[in-house]
Amino acid sequence: GPCKAVVNLFRKLKNEFGEDDGLHFAVAEADSIPTLQPFRNKCEPVFLFCVNGKIITIVRGVNAPLISKKITELVQEEREIAAGQKERDEVLTKQIVEDASRQLAFFFPNFGIKRTDQKVEKTLALIRPSLLKERRRKYSVLQRIKDDGFKIAMQKEIILSEEQTREFYKEHENQDYFPVLLEQMTSGPTLILALTRENAVAHWRDLLGPKTVEEAMKENPNSLRAKYAVNNIPIAQLHGSSTPDDAQKELQFFFPQEHTLALIKPAAAKKHKDDIMQKVKEAGFTISKIKEEALTHEMATQFYKDHKGKPFFEHLVTCMTEGPSVVMILTKENAVEEWRQLMGPTDPEVAKVTSPESIRAQFAQDILSNAVHGSSNREHALESIECVFGEIDID
Ligand code: ADP
Ligand code: MG
Repeated sequence: GPCKAVVNLFRKLKNEFGEDDGLHFAVAEADSIPTLQPFRNKCEPVFLFCVNGKIITIVRGVNAPLISKKITELVQEEREIAAGQKERDEVLTKQIVEDASRQLAFFFPNFGIKRTDQKVEKTLALIRPSLLKERRRKYSVLQRIKDDGFKIAMQKEIILSEEQTREFYKEHENQDYFPVLLEQMTSGPTLILALTRENAVAHWRDLLGPKTVEEAMKENPNSLRAKYAVNNIPIAQLHGSSTPDDAQKELQFFFPQEHTLALIKPAAAKKHKDDIMQKVKEAGFTISKIKEEALTHEMATQFYKDHKGKPFFEHLVTCMTEGPSVVMILTKENAVEEWRQLMGPTDPEVAKVTSPESIRAQFAQDILSNAVHGSSNREHALESIECVFGEIDID
């Protein structure tokens, strides 16, 4: 029908403007994408114009001249912005954009990359305590990291315990330098960085240069290990993972990600979905998967099998199957425990007293229809994630 004609219009515009203008067209089926729910059950096509992931204009219905005009205007504007003749209206705060792109880079490293030979990788970098103390040199290393095209996906500063150091360096335990390494690593805070870039592992190692300060000074005085050596300390002040496999393990060591299954129960999904989603995001969870779906009787029974035989069991199953739930996999360090904290106690009357900021205190009707569900431990989390989403691959 008319949609076909529009596709041709898009082709023509894309040809006219070419690849460099960042112009992309995509077709989205509102029926299969939860975020597009407001657009469901309408027979006319809707055209959404997005800049930097934010919808800035909507055209309803097939109005070719209007669509064409809008696109031309937007491309023109982008060209002016790119040429530095115009400033972008900052609709999005910088922080949100940065957070979003860091998380995107970490969880979907290849998102938006066209060619497969430029695979984006993650690697772990450490700035050890003695260098970290020297503020100016620390900033200079961070600057170098950015200049070389790395994104810092995650970072934290921690003082490693002896136990953590032994665990992290267990392959080095018998080396003669180990005691000095141990002393160094536990002497103050270390800065731990998750870096992403194409070919991150090898590129970061190339920048670092030879393993020891002595070799680095001799063989490659421009390497970072030579440049950022600290007087009188034989241990190099910078670390990088050796291989992509090691990187994966080392990242998991310092930034252990956990998944939990979270569900907004039907009654709350109808009334308070946006408020609850807002709380999920504010608490820093990554939503690794999401779908809206009414649980079947079997699924609800399986979900709450531990409660079979309790007086409220039948009511529970009914309340869980009466409409669509929002089902999510939430990912964060310590996700299982933190989601339970955010939900609050099972009984909202208790929640109101002991954790008034919790979701159940604010959005539950009563102890049965208490707004949200969350796995009670890691084992249950894995089990129910598999039950709802099947075998999935989230890393
Ligand atoms: P939680 O959801 O906090 O893990 P439980 O696993 O103990 O709590 O219970 C599962 C669900 O059963 C609760 O979320 C609630 O919907 C319902 N439920 C629990 N206790 C009662 C009760 N005494 N009366 C009615 N419903 C209950
Ligand atoms: Mg439970």
